[in-house]
Amino acid sequence: MENKGWKDRGVIDGEPIKVKKVIHRCEKKWCPKCKKTFQAKPDLLPRSLYGNTLIANACVMHYVHGIPVGRLEEMFGRDISLGTLFKVFHRIAEI
Ligand SMILES: [Zn+2]
Repeated sequence: MENKGWKDRGVIDGEPIKVKKVIHRCEKKWCPKCKKTFQAKPDLLPRSLYGNTLIANACVMHYVHGIPVGRLEEMFGRDISLGTLFKVFHRIAEI
């Protein structure tokens, strides 16, 4: 066969779900009267490793769409662990 060049074919495609580290900057102030430092609280679950957007997406994917937690772990990648996802779901259930 003889070469006749290339024909391009465009499709709409997706990417795996991306998770990234987000830094929440919490302002600290010192009160000269109390001699104490006060720190603003971030808009996060206390001591949670995961942010609200990730948590909300994971909840909808699992509880609304029925995606198993093990599958979520695969979809989100290795920064997200099965055990931590379960703990987050249980914490959300108590709010
Ligand atoms: Zn004070």
